[in-house]
Amino acid sequence: MSFSRKAGLSAALIATAWIGAARAQAPAAPVAPAPPPFATTKVTENVYIFRMGGHQSMFVVTKDGVIATDPVGLRRPAAKTYIEEIRKITQAPIKYVIYSHSHYDHIAGGQPFKDLGARFIAHNNAVARLKQLKPADIVIPDEGVGNFKKITLGGTVLELHYVGKNHADNTLVMRLPKEKIIFTVDWIPLGAVQFRGMADTYLPDTQEGLKKVIAMDWDILIPGHPGPGLRQTGTKDDARNVLSYLDDLSAAVKKEVDAGKSYDDAMKGVKLPKYEAWGGYGPFLPMNIERFYDFHNRGI
Ligand SMILES: [Zn+2]
Repeated sequence: MSFSRKAGLSAALIATAWIGAARAQAPAAPVAPAPPPFATTKVTENVYIFRMGGHQSMFVVTKDGVIATDPVGLRRPAAKTYIEEIRKITQAPIKYVIYSHSHYDHIAGGQPFKDLGARFIAHNNAVARLKQLKPADIVIPDEGVGNFKKITLGGTVLELHYVGKNHADNTLVMRLPKEKIIFTVDWIPLGAVQFRGMADTYLPDTQEGLKKVIAMDWDILIPGHPGPGLRQTGTKDDARNVLSYLDDLSAAVKKEVDAGKSYDDAMKGVKLPKYEAWGGYGPFLPMNIERFYDFHNRGI
């Protein structure tokens, strides 16, 4: 079974992104071996990334306990492995599981963490959404947060920021001020265009939120998916590049709308060669164009 089949739809995107970038950079290079199905990577002294397939989440180890994030368990029973990976590092209790946003592919399968007594936290809008939809296999959070919350555990501070609507109306930006690391998911991809038709994405709030994140004090971005080449962390340049892409795409699509072009003509006609080496450019650019066409044409 291939890596992408194992990991599901979003991992297929990531695999596409890897392949796309590999082709763009080195057309004659041999095909890289498939990465292992899961791995844990140390980012700094107390901060780790747990990756399962094409999804990943951050966890923070302190002497008084562990702060975990997204269980990434949709159609991949990840939590048991995730907990085993944490247990290789520490026997301290897992105190928290914090959801990055409400989308199932990142937050399903957290029950084994709940069974260990972890407290589940998400943005208030995520809590409301999950209570409304009652998805199977998703632990409803114990606590909702608004615009800001600070968690202190074993001397480590983790801030939960809400910078407005973007890829959902409930995305948190988790910031470790001492380590200068942020973890935020699905709206600041590493070297890739936006996923498919940008479902659930708010415009122009996403660009406004990006400006707020870029203005924050941090050096390392941990996203919810590795980028091309299995790159697991990014920098402010990645965030700036995503903002440039969205601004360039928006301007190009606006021109088409203003010129009275149809959806189809815009989706076929707009090209952004500056980004053609990015993951997902071929399959997803037309769908990203459609999203911006709706924004400029109908204010959606
Ligand atoms: Zn998402």
